[in-house]
Amino acid sequence: SRAAEPSRGPCGLLSEIRTSISKEPFTDHYTVIPGRELGRGKFAVVRKCVEKCSGHEYAAKFMRKRRKGQDCRVEIIHEIAVLELATASPRVVNLHQVYEMASEMVLVLEFAAGGEIFNQCVSDDKEEVFSEEDVKRLMRQILEGVSFLHQNNVVHLDLKPQNILLTSSSPLGEIKIVDFGLSRVLSSHRELREIMGTPEYVAPEVLNYEPISTATDMWSAGVLAYVMLTGISPFLGENKQETFLNISQLNVSYSEEELQQLDRGALSFIQTLLLKQPRDRATAEQCLKHPWLQFSEPRDPLTAEDTPPVEDQEAPSADSTSSTSPHLP
Ligand code: ADP
Ligand code: MG
Repeated sequence: SRAAEPSRGPCGLLSEIRTSISKEPFTDHYTVIPGRELGRGKFAVVRKCVEKCSGHEYAAKFMRKRRKGQDCRVEIIHEIAVLELATASPRVVNLHQVYEMASEMVLVLEFAAGGEIFNQCVSDDKEEVFSEEDVKRLMRQILEGVSFLHQNNVVHLDLKPQNILLTSSSPLGEIKIVDFGLSRVLSSHRELREIMGTPEYVAPEVLNYEPISTATDMWSAGVLAYVMLTGISPFLGENKQETFLNISQLNVSYSEEELQQLDRGALSFIQTLLLKQPRDRATAEQCLKHPWLQFSEPRDPLTAEDTPPVEDQEAPSADSTSSTSPHLP
């Protein structure tokens, strides 16, 4: 039944949005905060700005409509449509407004003040890196967001530490998934293949030009968990070719010192995701039920006194300068 499915373009792109696109000058309504940009990709720059009428802070994603001589407006519309679809999920960044200029569109997004989880993944400062408890909580939130997307037949296809933001970094806030530039709507009557994300996080089926599915995101979730727990990007090689080879050969080390120090559930969790066959990987729903991610609290008040305290039991590392330096770029 065609009518029941959302309208979509030729390759999993949504084409209908309900946000009205303002053609008024962006700077009439927002003050762009001068100085460092919040982030930048190939075709977008994200800047912090303040809405003049409310004084509220936002992140404005300035997107070029023409890229490599191609009109990419339909892709921007799709990104807007996915953000609209995901407003019901607190794990996906909110879209406030959209502006359109001659050569650019501006997505005014909820400001995630804590920045990318990437920064904490690669930090040399012990105070800044995530504890296992932090990772569990953040991973649960990431999976809640991914589960919401998958329930709505949306695959993100670019899950990585640069696209998972935090509402605040200290104290550690909540996660917000951003960047739906590569996301697609899965269709029951058309297969999707090869939409290339970032080499390090890409699943084997993408490299092999095999069908993409929600399991493709679950591979990336496994890589995310690995990186958040260790600071090591598990498949990263010296170059792209080496990285791709590592992925297609499942050349991943589970004997890293950083992993050995963790709850055994953590390793088992990662291993349910980093599987070559998409059908063998755990779904987001199944991951949320994995023992590693179960709350240690609330506990049965009758037996609570017999069990050890749930507080941080991690033994202080003998050598804080040991080889924990991240292998991330
Ligand atoms: P691209 O498609 O170019 O990768 P993203 O949407 O990922 O664009 O944004 C690029 C970067 O900008 C992000 O990795 C992040 O650092 C920053 N950024 C994006 N959205 C926000 C936001 N809502 N709040 C704070 N920073 C953001
Ligand atoms: Mg991005």
